[in-house]
Amino acid sequence: MKYIFGPLASRRFGMSLGIDLSPDEKSCNFDCIYCELVRATKIEKIANPPKVDAVIAELKEAMCKFDFDVITITANGEPTLYHYLDELIDAINEIKGEKKLLILSNASTIERQDVRDSLSKLDIVKLSLDSVNEQTFKKIDRPMKSIELKNIIDGLIKYSQNCSNELVLEVLVVKGINDKVEEFTLLNRVINQINPARVDISTIDRPPAYDVEALTYEELYTLSKEIKNQTVFIATRKNIDAKKESFNEDDILKTLSKRPFTKADIEDVFDAKTKERFNSLFAFGKIEIVKVGNIDFFRTV
Ligand code: SF4
Repeated sequence: MKYIFGPLASRRFGMSLGIDLSPDEKSCNFDCIYCELVRATKIEKIANPPKVDAVIAELKEAMCKFDFDVITITANGEPTLYHYLDELIDAINEIKGEKKLLILSNASTIERQDVRDSLSKLDIVKLSLDSVNEQTFKKIDRPMKSIELKNIIDGLIKYSQNCSNELVLEVLVVKGINDKVEEFTLLNRVINQINPARVDISTIDRPPAYDVEALTYEELYTLSKEIKNQTVFIATRKNIDAKKESFNEDDILKTLSKRPFTKADIEDVFDAKTKERFNSLFAFGKIEIVKVGNIDFFRTV
């Protein structure tokens, strides 16, 4: 399959079947210092966008094969840069049944009415807001020049005032960049205006694009106390109650190329046969280990 990957155990949304709308290259208008994808030129639109029919055909096949909780729209970058997003959401809604439909977006396009209208048709919308301080925002998310933080904040407030689905706001914290209490005091004011369903506070947990460091759980917890009057979730790797899945060798390599796994991920997601296939790929040098913050990650060579 070209556009579908997983299912993967997500820390925050359960077992997730992923849709990648840009499988051949990273397509993003940010260049976040913590990004787990390779560095790439920032773009405004996904080049060669896949046809909706092609994505839906693969999705139908995967839905027959796997058990999962959510269908997650991603794009090896920013999925709202996909030209046919609205059409795709409509088509998925027609076939998804009881499954939830989720998008993971950096919020860069939320100022646009058409994007807000499209996102309001999903079950869960995860939007990022790493800082409300212009300087910090530019330092951590490295957006395209045309993107302005105040437009993102205005768009988030407008969206939350009019949507009836679940809005999850994510703040990813990087050591020495957006981990000051003053940052969180400012964030708290804006987050209370947005008033999302949940605020996820997370940190780096996979090999990042730049040389930056994660916070400890205790540090995240301390900062999270600055976000008042909100449902705050500290996204950690603990307690993922995942159903084991069977992957062939190609699926294993494809999955690890998109998302490096820890030993815990392998235990959580792979069934016994898949683990044997994984061990053999590792023995043949198709998979390597990289260490981040004292945690070993397995990824394709
Ligand atoms: S973390 Fe997300 S928003 Fe940031 S550069 Fe990577 S893909 Fe883009």
